[in-house]
Amino acid sequence: MGVRGGIAGVAAALLLTLGPGAAAAPAQRWDIRASGPPLPVTRCNVAQPTTAPAVPTDRRPACPGAAAGLRAAPDDADPDCEPVNRLFGGEIRRIPTEEPLVALTFNAAWNEDGLAVVLAELRRQHAPATFFLTGEFADGHPAAVRAIAAEHGVANHSYDHPELADLTPDDLRAQVLDTDRAIRRAAGAVPLPFYRFPFSDTTPDAIAEVNALGYADIEFTQDTKGYLGLDGGMTVDKAVQRAVDALRPGMILQMHLGTGADPGPNLDAQALPRIVEAIHARGYRITDLRALLDEPASGCSGA
Ligand SMILES: [Zn+2]
Repeated sequence: MGVRGGIAGVAAALLLTLGPGAAAAPAQRWDIRASGPPLPVTRCNVAQPTTAPAVPTDRRPACPGAAAGLRAAPDDADPDCEPVNRLFGGEIRRIPTEEPLVALTFNAAWNEDGLAVVLAELRRQHAPATFFLTGEFADGHPAAVRAIAAEHGVANHSYDHPELADLTPDDLRAQVLDTDRAIRRAAGAVPLPFYRFPFSDTTPDAIAEVNALGYADIEFTQDTKGYLGLDGGMTVDKAVQRAVDALRPGMILQMHLGTGADPGPNLDAQALPRIVEAIHARGYRITDLRALLDEPASGCSGA
């Protein structure tokens, strides 16, 4: 079965896992490679928020990408059935599939060390990845964001990587929306409707706030911990081993661009060729997380 077929199964599994609204309705098809706009809250498979999110007017249309000719016109789309809604209601730490599929993700919050190596290696291996960017990174590294967005999905990782415990609900919404705008400015493209919490620190209420802004919470199965650097006791070998040890159907692997306090080599960039080769050698395929938004197994109830 091909990747697309596999993802159709994933979508079905997701629906079983997350979606109570399984009544058949016309499925909306979304060209996930063309756009991935955050959307206002909808009624499909997600509880209504108690307060209206502060969605900017430029995010109001059900299909913002339509203006650029990227998506179906709003009249043709049912905003209650956007595929991302199937991903709402909890954190996603793996793709619920039994097929040998895994997804690669990178976070970027510091500098762009390693980016050129990572992009070249992904290109060489024909491997897709999703990059979760902070708003600060987008504002500070617009050329890097454009380079990433030209080949891969870009998603939201908060504005300045705060501790969740320090945020009010208003603060959290501002973190999400300010980053949404920063990525649009930098990339000239709409970010994917995927949010990853800093430190992978989530609560049900915080996830509901993010969902209300149109973002699914995409966390990870395993982190290579290459970001800890040599000073943090990590090596390329250890980063590769952590990825290999966690290899299983649906694994979402988290790596990082840049380095934190340690100005040493970017271990994840160095480990990436061996990680990709190990994934392929074990019969796994690397899938694009954007495929989670494609080909819904069935529509939403709209109830
Ligand atoms: Zn982070």
